Amino acid sequence: MKAESGKLVPLDAAKSPAADAEGCARRLFGLDREALKERMEDLGEPSWRGRQVAEALYRQRVEGLGEITTLSKQLRGKLADSGWEVGRPAIRQVFKSVDGTERYLVECGPAGTGSVETVETVWMPEGDDGEAGDGSDSSGPEVQAKSWNRATICVSSQVGCAVNCQFCLTAKLGLQRNLTAGEIAGQVVSVLARQGIEVGKERLNLVFMGMGEPFLNYDNFMGAVRLLVGEVGLSPQRMTVSTSGIVPGIERFAQEPVEVRPKLAISLNAPNDLIRQELMPINRKWNIEAVMDAVGRIQLRPRERVTFEYVLLGGRTDQPEHAKQVARLLRSRGLPVKVNLIAWNPGPGIPYSMPAPGAIDAFRAILAGEGIAVYLRRPRGRDIYAACGQLKRTSEKTSEETSALIEPKESKEERDS
Ligand code: SAH
Ligand code: SF4
Repeated sequence: MKAESGKLVPLDAAKSPAADAEGCARRLFGLDREALKERMEDLGEPSWRGRQVAEALYRQRVEGLGEITTLSKQLRGKLADSGWEVGRPAIRQVFKSVDGTERYLVECGPAGTGSVETVETVWMPEGDDGEAGDGSDSSGPEVQAKSWNRATICVSSQVGCAVNCQFCLTAKLGLQRNLTAGEIAGQVVSVLARQGIEVGKERLNLVFMGMGEPFLNYDNFMGAVRLLVGEVGLSPQRMTVSTSGIVPGIERFAQEPVEVRPKLAISLNAPNDLIRQELMPINRKWNIEAVMDAVGRIQLRPRERVTFEYVLLGGRTDQPEHAKQVARLLRSRGLPVKVNLIAWNPGPGIPYSMPAPGAIDAFRAILAGEGIAVYLRRPRGRDIYAACGQLKRTSEKTSEETSALIEPKESKEERDS
């Protein structure tokens, strides 16, 4: 292994202190129906009480034991006396962007230890932009009347990240710890509660593209997906997980049953191994060919496409010859793909530059000309450090220092699913 790859962590090496601590904290949130049934039986209760608790946690979105009114007061007392709590991660701070995006600091500290860790979750409502919206009001107390017709929640899978991509602000944190399945799913449920979302009635997408590398926290990530599908009622076809190219993770993912498998996005970000390994040291461990081979093992649904994300770095990855190489690479595999171009979002201390608007257009035109479906992801919430690669638990007010970063909206935004 080369020097850089020595920094990489194997699939299961990262510590997960909250998971270790979870037994002591006795959090109900994060347990599925079967596990809740067992806990109820342990307390001498009938197992169907577990179903009631699951309903309360994941459908009614209770925050405290006192709100589980389907249980008797006596049973709630028994749960509390045995050290149980709801334990859903709470939104501790909210940053609102001029474009409607909200960035949340979500508390994930091991309960009762006094140590508070936060991760970032982002809510991105799509403004009507001339499209038909349903115009109905949101029921959340803190949110304004509903002005979106579809929304995306961007979810974190780790505190920080070990992968060390050179252009990414999250990388600067290093890996602090893995999130538990409950902490990953809890971000979503907390946002659903805040926004008053009725599952099944709203057009809602989840993207596992926040802090961290989901495939380096595979079991907790998939545990969260199973909770979100099985207990919360969300569809895996409206979820996309993004990976920097962790091949053993992609291979496991390919084995997941289609009922719980989200869609896949690969952070390609470079046209060839030479450039990619410079930007993403992980490429020395699993190069583009290895990643493409693993992706090819996934049994796609009808009409499903694999997304390739491509961050455009001014002068480094945004040139016409790069676009031609990307087109050749993707076409050579014959997979159903689409490309999401992301203009690089700046961050302090990261020595890259944004692509020129002309370069973005030219890049897109070349891919489109080669018959590849290509979208430009509209930068969301840059003024509050909520955009891709900017998640670094920034808790200070950022509007002043970053106002120079706010740009006019791109003319053609991504229209994903
Ligand atoms: N760790 C996973 C998912 C989180 S990163 C992954 O890397 O795929 C989500 C996306 O943001 C990735 O495609 C990544 O390449 C992109 N990204 C990271 N830093 C960025 C930045 N500064 N500007 C724009 N996109 C960035
Ligand atoms: Fe980690 Fe993704 Fe950032 Fe790379 S781009 S450092 S994998 S969060």
